[in-house]
Amino acid sequence: MESETTAVHGGTGVDPATGAIISPIYLATTFERQPDGNYPLGYEYSRQGNPNRDAFENALCSLEKGTRAIAFSSGSAAMMSMLLALSPKDHILAPADMYFGNRQMLREIFGRWGLKATFLDMTKVGNIEKAVRSNTRLIIIETPSNPLLKITDIKTVSDIAQMAGAYLVCDNTIATPILQKVLDLGADFSIHATTKYLGGHGDVMGGVVIGRKENEFAQRIKMVQKVCGPIPSPFECWLALRGIQTLPQRIRAQAETGLAIARYLANHPRIEKVHYPGLADHPGHKIAQRQMSAYGGLLSALVIGGRDQAMAVAARVKLFTRATSFGGTHSLIEHRASVEEPGTKTPQNLLRLSIGLENADDLIADLEQALGT
Ligand SMILES: *Cc1c(COP(=O)(O)O)cnc(C)c1O
Repeated sequence: MESETTAVHGGTGVDPATGAIISPIYLATTFERQPDGNYPLGYEYSRQGNPNRDAFENALCSLEKGTRAIAFSSGSAAMMSMLLALSPKDHILAPADMYFGNRQMLREIFGRWGLKATFLDMTKVGNIEKAVRSNTRLIIIETPSNPLLKITDIKTVSDIAQMAGAYLVCDNTIATPILQKVLDLGADFSIHATTKYLGGHGDVMGGVVIGRKENEFAQRIKMVQKVCGPIPSPFECWLALRGIQTLPQRIRAQAETGLAIARYLANHPRIEKVHYPGLADHPGHKIAQRQMSAYGGLLSALVIGGRDQAMAVAARVKLFTRATSFGGTHSLIEHRASVEEPGTKTPQNLLRLSIGLENADDLIADLEQALGT
């Protein structure tokens, strides 16, 4: 079935107890054991498994076309759990412009724990081949990347990972499984902050790892979920599942408006550069055309001048909201460098825009008045 159908029907069916077409929220932490000691419905204790979490994981698994989805309390908890499934002294490759929170996690937490990480520009495939070591277990890519919207060739990197005996993990948060089927393209695992487009309404945090095939690493990630417990609550799973039902329509609308705004900004005299993979002059445009069906609702722009000029534009918006995060119904604008860690390489004149569901002309009019002439 196609994504629109899976998004609606991929979670649960009609509730068998009541006929409700939307599943109730199961808050119980514990489930009854039969006289023979069994749990006939498969639920025992809510950290190990919960019907709302199962429904959410099932929906994600079918949308991304995987064999197993494992849900977590945030995108960061998903990344943490995946890294906890490795062993000290294992080596991983990660993008130099990786989501800053994940970069911080690798350096500050897992560095001390003994995990070795090499950060590199994943758009240069030759670099990846050279950086692989005998103990490289994972190659992590993020495409499009946040906030520079760089594009990595998933198929090519998956060939390198296979040769190296490493798993390829693709952060698919920005594209979503609607615009980019990373497991079909050769990634072994897809990882998401469901906080963004999948939840889609700016009101729920979550994360998920989806595996293409069943293997020992997927089982270890599942064990981290069960044993360490960084799980989403039943209500959070319910909200995220509700969000997924409209994901295909939302992300296509956001991608259409995103392209219109990227084109508008690219022609604006006060803008130095626009980072958006849908623009023909983007260095990754050809690859994006091959691996994405549209280019998403996230873009960034460099304001001519510097930090002060960029801050001034953000200060003048009326319809956009100055806030971090992306993927919700409301359009957001953010001076990115000042929310990232000190010493970040994100340019000081960069504004990141998350396109919501408002009318494109209204958003452009807001940018027009904020940019001035
Ligand atoms: C937001 C984000 C994360 C982290 O997710 P949280 O839910 O905020 O913990 C990871 N990767 C990317 C690409 C993100 O945008």
